[in-house]
Amino acid sequence: MSYYVGIDLGGTNIKAGVVDGEGKLLNKLSIKTNADRAMEDIIHDMGKLAADAIKDAGFEVKDIEAIGIGSPGTPDNEDGLLVYSSNLPFNNAPMRKLIREVIDLPVYIDNDANCAAMAEAVAGAAKGTKESVTITLGTGVGAGVIVRGRIYSGFNQAGSEFGHTVLVSGGVQCGCGRKGCFEQYASATALARMTKEAAAEHPESLLNEVYKEFGEWNAQIAFVALKKGDKVAADVVDMYTSYLADGLANAINAFMPEILVVGGGVCNEGDPLLIPMREKTMSRPYFGPGVPKTRIELAQMGNDAGIVGAAMMGKSCVDDGMNGI
Ligand SMILES: [Zn+2]
Repeated sequence: MSYYVGIDLGGTNIKAGVVDGEGKLLNKLSIKTNADRAMEDIIHDMGKLAADAIKDAGFEVKDIEAIGIGSPGTPDNEDGLLVYSSNLPFNNAPMRKLIREVIDLPVYIDNDANCAAMAEAVAGAAKGTKESVTITLGTGVGAGVIVRGRIYSGFNQAGSEFGHTVLVSGGVQCGCGRKGCFEQYASATALARMTKEAAAEHPESLLNEVYKEFGEWNAQIAFVALKKGDKVAADVVDMYTSYLADGLANAINAFMPEILVVGGGVCNEGDPLLIPMREKTMSRPYFGPGVPKTRIELAQMGNDAGIVGAAMMGKSCVDDGMNGI
């Protein structure tokens, strides 16, 4: 068995662990990112955390094949850079070079949503398939596309940003500069906004009562009020799942994955979300008669997706003979 280190770089925490060649996570360490410090310090700490993780798992550096890093933003895995990140102070950050100043292993870099998709493809909901798409409904909508067992992200590694495909022309303003992106209608943030708007239009709705329990508009309120029988909440959930299904069906039409994996905190709502999401989504893609249909599954990797996916991305680079030094 060969072993890899996965590093999950986030705006709040940096997590690292040793992962075996089948995607099994052996251990997990975490430190604060403290994103306001110098880029060099953050990256050197990532290298130290990788070294600590190797030791903690009972291995030596020579037992490890490579380090994979999953980071927000757009990487350049050829040159070992993080070209751009919207929430970290990195511009053409020489990640491979700086990590290798701390630890002598090949280093590979990819986007965090792509790594999450890799984790699901190797060890999670899409295990055993070669073609899958993973869509994560969080603050935004993350997407990762796996083709022939490899991450697909275009010629410049900036691709598979499915959250920024327009669902409603001229719709809600998105942070990317366009209006009406899928992310503005299917993220947890979008559901919270729809809930707030519906509550303002319908002062009698239970949404306003449930809001008081939370003290903020979030993605849970509509589901809590729905369970109490509120009609307005039912309409909000119906609207949200319709938008969501349109976007998911677009992803199916574009990529025809064997499995479409859906994850993120919103999925914890269970059947009130999942039943309409599945029914509406599966009625929409263009499957001709006799054509095998995509299956929709819930993400299984949870908080470990970043580490496992980064490590397995590193493995795929090693297997492909990519230079990581
Ligand atoms: Zn956008």
